[in-house]
Amino acid sequence: MTPPSPQLPTALIHHPYKPPPGFEAVPPAIHRASTVIFPNVAALRARDWRHKTGYTYGLHGTPTTFLLEERIASLEGGQYCTLVPSGLAAVVLVGMALLKSGDELLIPDNAYGPNKAFASGELAAWGVTHQYYDPINPADLAAKLSPRTRLVWLEAPGSITLEFPDLPALCAAVKAHADSHPQGIVTALDNTWGAGIAFNAFDLGADISAHALTKYPSGGADVLMGSIVTRNEALHHLIHFCHMRVGYGVAGNDAELVLRGLNTIALRYAAQDTATRSVATWMQGQAQVAAVLHPALPGSPGHEIFKRDCTAAACLFSVVFKPEFTQMQIDRFCDSLQLFKLGYSWAGPMSLCAPYDVPSLRTTPWAYPGGLVRFSVGLEAVADLQADLAQALLKMNQGDALQ
Ligand SMILES: *Cc1c(COP(=O)(O)O)cnc(C)c1O
Repeated sequence: MTPPSPQLPTALIHHPYKPPPGFEAVPPAIHRASTVIFPNVAALRARDWRHKTGYTYGLHGTPTTFLLEERIASLEGGQYCTLVPSGLAAVVLVGMALLKSGDELLIPDNAYGPNKAFASGELAAWGVTHQYYDPINPADLAAKLSPRTRLVWLEAPGSITLEFPDLPALCAAVKAHADSHPQGIVTALDNTWGAGIAFNAFDLGADISAHALTKYPSGGADVLMGSIVTRNEALHHLIHFCHMRVGYGVAGNDAELVLRGLNTIALRYAAQDTATRSVATWMQGQAQVAAVLHPALPGSPGHEIFKRDCTAAACLFSVVFKPEFTQMQIDRFCDSLQLFKLGYSWAGPMSLCAPYDVPSLRTTPWAYPGGLVRFSVGLEAVADLQADLAQALLKMNQGDALQ
């Protein structure tokens, strides 16, 4: 009888890594290299970096980066992985590899901001057009597909406003159109929130998963890295060859930090999920709050789809304040927080927050008149985080209330 295949937390640790004979240590070796030496000219001519059958140059990968690529591919349930120096570089490389002048890409209106900035900056300058679609309305996406569409970005949930989209419906809309399409249309998911843990991107229909390893896989707020995973070999080669041409290599020491983080990713994801739900639920009960956005909370946009498609949720939630609170009061609330630090990125040990002006970030209407703050919950004790929020909410009420 074959044993059942191990669950994710086990598989992340018992990975088929082969240490050098006689050195059965738990962590893998860390290799750093620019030069890789060939035994002779024939070997230099024969060695093929394109298909990872040999090592040719540090930029093309080392045993350490190849190992991390394998582990990220297994984490996400994909087959091929390419590492890049940041999560944003993953988004950019997908665009560079797939798009040419005259093509169009579609981006969800609530997408990660720098994804939009790359489209309106470099891609527009290179003759690639883009449109934004409403991610909670698959019919809006379907209506915007055209013979020029080459790439459709997906993000689950939206970066700041955390609406959870119907990924299978969005992918089905693209596939239905792509069948009669001259060059096919690729769907690429920014999978940083799901991290390979909350859901399987490929089972839900995505062709490509781009992931900011900076967030959960690192877990330490100490390294920037990104990955692009797919199950499709032809797609992987498009990305991989472009990766070689643009020189997006990653360093061995950075790969080491992510390999180390992967041992605990399942535990951290679960712990931060539980803590985030309790902090978010507590915030819902506060008098100053108009809405708490978190896909696991009933009433949050896409909650039913989240329940259907996800087994867990990441450590983000957003609070919309009642409209009587001025931006100055909301800023004072943020400034009064002691444990929640002001800063970007998330999924590290320390809780963070940042205020956002949502209407300036999107083209589709936004339901709330009040200001928004996005929180990321770290690994501190929940009671301390709640006490911190409580004291900052009190300060928000003091002094210069509106009117
Ligand atoms: C952080 C983030 C990125 C970019 O990651 P970096 O490594 O900081 O470049 C991309 N997408 C999402 C959704 C993110 O949260």
